Amino acid sequence: MREAGTEIPEIYLDANATTAVLPRARAAALAAMADDYGNPSSGHLPGLRARACLAAVRARARRVLGVATGQVLFVSGATEGLQTAVLSALRSIAGRPGIHRLLYGATEHKAVPEALGHWNEVLGLGLEILAIPVGADGRHDLPWLRAQAATAGLVCTMAANNETGVVSDLAGIAQALEGSPALWLVDGVQALGKMPLDLAGLPVDYAVFSGHKFYAPKGIGLLYARHGAPLTPLVVGGGQEQGQRSGTENVPAIAALGAVLEALEEGGAFRDQVTLKVFRDRLAGALRDAFPGVVFNAPEDRCLPTTLNFSVPGLDSGLLLDVFDAAGLRMSGGSACSTGSGAGSPVLQAMGLPAWQVASAVRLSFGPATETTLVDEACRRIRRCGHVMREQGLVPAPELRLEPVDGVTRFVSNGACCYLLVDAQSRCCVVIDPLPELTQRLAQAIRSRELDLVALLDTHTHGDHASAAEALRQACGGPAGAGGADALGWAAGSGPLALGRFRLTRLPVPGHTRDSVAYLWFDGQGRLQAAFVGDTVLPGALGRSDFPHSDPLAYASSIVQLHQAVGDATLLLPGHDDDDRFACTFASESAAQPLLAQVLAGGLAAAAFADRKARLETDIPPTRYQTIACGVRCPSGAEPAANVVHAAGLAALLQDHPELVFVDVREAHEQRLGPWPELPWTLRREVVPLSSLTNAMPRWLESEPALLFVCRSGNRSATAARAMSRLGHRRSFSLAGGLALWPQARA
Ligand code: PLP
Repeated sequence: MREAGTEIPEIYLDANATTAVLPRARAAALAAMADDYGNPSSGHLPGLRARACLAAVRARARRVLGVATGQVLFVSGATEGLQTAVLSALRSIAGRPGIHRLLYGATEHKAVPEALGHWNEVLGLGLEILAIPVGADGRHDLPWLRAQAATAGLVCTMAANNETGVVSDLAGIAQALEGSPALWLVDGVQALGKMPLDLAGLPVDYAVFSGHKFYAPKGIGLLYARHGAPLTPLVVGGGQEQGQRSGTENVPAIAALGAVLEALEEGGAFRDQVTLKVFRDRLAGALRDAFPGVVFNAPEDRCLPTTLNFSVPGLDSGLLLDVFDAAGLRMSGGSACSTGSGAGSPVLQAMGLPAWQVASAVRLSFGPATETTLVDEACRRIRRCGHVMREQGLVPAPELRLEPVDGVTRFVSNGACCYLLVDAQSRCCVVIDPLPELTQRLAQAIRSRELDLVALLDTHTHGDHASAAEALRQACGGPAGAGGADALGWAAGSGPLALGRFRLTRLPVPGHTRDSVAYLWFDGQGRLQAAFVGDTVLPGALGRSDFPHSDPLAYASSIVQLHQAVGDATLLLPGHDDDDRFACTFASESAAQPLLAQVLAGGLAAAAFADRKARLETDIPPTRYQTIACGVRCPSGAEPAANVVHAAGLAALLQDHPELVFVDVREAHEQRLGPWPELPWTLRREVVPLSSLTNAMPRWLESEPALLFVCRSGNRSATAARAMSRLGHRRSFSLAGGLALWPQARA
């Protein structure tokens, strides 16, 4: 464990999302605010000074972009530049015979297809909008483009991709467009400052740039329009920018942009291509050392020298990012705009990469002003991350014998849950509901701790995924198929399954499917610890029973039998948890789901229950992960909100709850890498990773200590606090902003 209060200086490796502002750009912006504060449209001296600043920066932009003619407009950023270009192009082609479609690269930034769709609709053009396919190397399919070009009105292609760094073949695109009536828009956001860009030498009609992607502030960008290219202003008013973009100019940001362009022209502040490639190779080398199976998702000879997009077999990108973040390395899982969307990167999907590579992808990007010392430190930390991952059994380390984690570890993928139950003393384990995408990770967890895989169990035949039992058995090197096991992996007949000091029993609960079962987990003293209930009872939902292999009429009595077997308070570990509610009990679900409460109270016969449920099961939308929903949400009462406490409110919380326990729910690998805050109070502290929370829940529910959950950013701690509150624990709190905001919050 790291010592309390150890500060980890941040290493920012997410330059494709945005960059810090160059010191000289900051100084220029401040000077513009202090001295050149005039309105560039005013005729007096301050106004003239501001106007001169604009003229100088525009002239510099022309030189850097290599465009002596045409217009260079100051806009708020690339997104605005794109709107203006698309609006202008679409207005000019409206009603032109022979124009049927608009084309954009399949890996464009979302702003491009959104702008095309929006303006096509607003202008009522009804043109077909088609994505230009890309190959596995991320480059446009030029024969396809050539075939479509004759009837295209606008073609949008990026110069370099924000997620992969793949550099487009602009010369090849120009050739493919020869003879085409189409206007050509190039998104140059990721290219500027990182690679040569020959706008004048190519028949480009429009190009857009964002200042904040190359060391200028946010809120300033450039739109280049070739001489003679149609232009329709997006914003009208005072007539600024020769009437093409009204609104008083953002002089401080323009001055800052000018300072960056000056640095680009001089060259001193920015590394050359050769040096940047050396940096990239060193970082790629560190990744290979840390994660021997790492795969790079785009061919490096076709990429910007400042971007690496990589995947590690068996590790999803969320886990990798948590690890890097704990080590103070800020990277991202794709474009910043898609963070939190849950879906995999459309860019990598368009390149046809396998699902695991998409799910595991991490983007490392640095800017051309990066220092050698930063690369040195980044490489050191990446290697340390690899070391800690080996220590924790997340990547292979045959030289280490790792200690097993006793009890249940929960894995979740797109809302589907899978459990590893381990008796640490005997090193025996069982996997319940193995998910295909977790096969490698589970096999790694089992092998690295030399666990004896006693059984691979499913709670039912799943509707949303195949069981990975056989694949996992093979990956663990086990014999194919346990002798005498049923289709769900149960080989113990009617007796209990021994798992070291633990026992599992099996209870058929037909309903969601005809073959649904629950597995009841008993400890060494024969006490019921929890029940793995599949989709029979879910937090806030019941399993659907409208599948061909469902048994709706048996559902009500299965619920009653399960309740008789486990009672109100036993933790029910579900097969799905789409809303991050974690676990439930019959008590929590009776309170939240009136339909369930009625069945348990004996107020609904089997047919009436099936009928009420069938009415809820019409048109069930997919989950937020775009997977088929296995549960049907039952009308519920108000859900408890997490009790969120800000650092400033901790003293008061402690006064109310002097015995408060500080529970760190970060995973073990993050705890090894990350800082631990210095606390001004002596607090009891527990370390319970979120994946192991179910082991501690019964104890906390029984003794009701006041709990303050803490994690890196406040999300997982809020999940834990909410889950505990939902289970009736009244004194669960979450630290807002987590450890990420801790020092600032206290300052
Ligand atoms: N195009 C590309 C390639 C980008 O990477 C981005 C930002 O991520 C944009 C356009 C949009 O830029 P902005 O949000 O600065 O308008």
